[in-house]
Amino acid sequence: MEKKPFNAFEMAQQQFDGVAEKLGLDPAVRDLLRNPLREYHFLIPIRMDDGGYKVFPGYRVQHNDARGPCKGGIRFHPHETVDTVRALAMWMTWKTAVVDIPLGGGKGGVICDPHNLSDREQEALCRGWVRQVAKNVGHEQDVPAPDVMTHGQHMLWMLDEFEKIHGAKYPGFITGKPVGMGGSLGRTEATGYGVMFTVREAMKELGLDISKTLAAFQGFGNVSQYAARLYRQFGGTIICVSCWDQAEKTTFTFRRTKGIDPDELIGITNKFGTIDKAKAKALGYESLPGDAWIEQEADLLVPAALENQISGANVGKISKRVKVIAEGANGPTTPEADKVIADRGIFMIPDFLCNAGGVTCSYFEQVQNNMNYYWGLEEVLSRLDEKMTSAFKAVSDLARKKNAYMREAAYMIAISRVAEAVHRRGWV
Ligand code: GLU
Repeated sequence: MEKKPFNAFEMAQQQFDGVAEKLGLDPAVRDLLRNPLREYHFLIPIRMDDGGYKVFPGYRVQHNDARGPCKGGIRFHPHETVDTVRALAMWMTWKTAVVDIPLGGGKGGVICDPHNLSDREQEALCRGWVRQVAKNVGHEQDVPAPDVMTHGQHMLWMLDEFEKIHGAKYPGFITGKPVGMGGSLGRTEATGYGVMFTVREAMKELGLDISKTLAAFQGFGNVSQYAARLYRQFGGTIICVSCWDQAEKTTFTFRRTKGIDPDELIGITNKFGTIDKAKAKALGYESLPGDAWIEQEADLLVPAALENQISGANVGKISKRVKVIAEGANGPTTPEADKVIADRGIFMIPDFLCNAGGVTCSYFEQVQNNMNYYWGLEEVLSRLDEKMTSAFKAVSDLARKKNAYMREAAYMIAISRVAEAVHRRGWV
């Protein structure tokens, strides 16, 4: 029998159902939280540089706003599906809840491949996306942000279109804006740094000296680059990094067992996170198959690419040395693989806790937008560290108390907070 293709939304619902059962949630609360509150599906026609027109499907899914306006990024990806956006929107609800910021969860996407779009075409796509949902998003309803293959420039085009439509300035409509244009210092670093703050705390808890550990990273985009930099500052040794190669349409793992300097590697990486193979070779890196990152003799694995990367098919390859997995990406581990990891006693820092630094800093960005007064980098990063560390501790304390897996403990905290909000508001 053919295996069912991976479906991120089914996986998110499966994770939710397990914890809802354990928490004994009321059936109506379950019905409300296992599905998005609202969804917008639309088409974005744009004029291409060659004079022709193309139509791109776009989405915004608002999973829940009981704790505050929906919040979450917009992804540009050729394999985007509405179910992936739904899963990611749901995970955003748990993410904002676990770090206890007054926001809900949402996610957006456009099925497109930015590798093949000029800047002008991407600008048209951003403006077209905003025109489709301009009445349904905004600083008091739903606040978008960058995600896979979108960044500050995209956010600024979107903000500009939104402000043109509404005829006033609304810097808090969107986060991840460039610094000096309403953006916050530290936002670019925030997700990757947040990942490492949680790793630092996990290693403390396990009695590991981070400066004596080895790590393997999957992905070399924004999250991975900053997580790698901070890990190195903490004294850890990165032995490999994997990335997508656009020219060869496959992934490679670049390994240098004596250690990788992320800044050196960033110097030979393009804006889509593709590392130049020839230059890497000249610098002493071996290039291995894309999935080799998972089988390295490392203490720490950081999957920081896309969903569905650690599955039943490759979980068995994880070496005995691995003690911590830090999910920089959203949904990188399937439930089947997760069970194996839990049974092996590997310390899991689950995605919606591990990578919550980005949205936490987005919240700081909104706070600064509202005040129209901007903090220095030190202030942003120390507030970020404080938030991430206290969220981590709350989850690990509960995990210890209930003898639960970290993912389960994180879900318990997040779902209880959202369930309480929908209940006390009188929705169900
Ligand atoms: N896209 C990021 C995430 O998945 C950040 C979201 C935000 O800043 O709103 O958490």
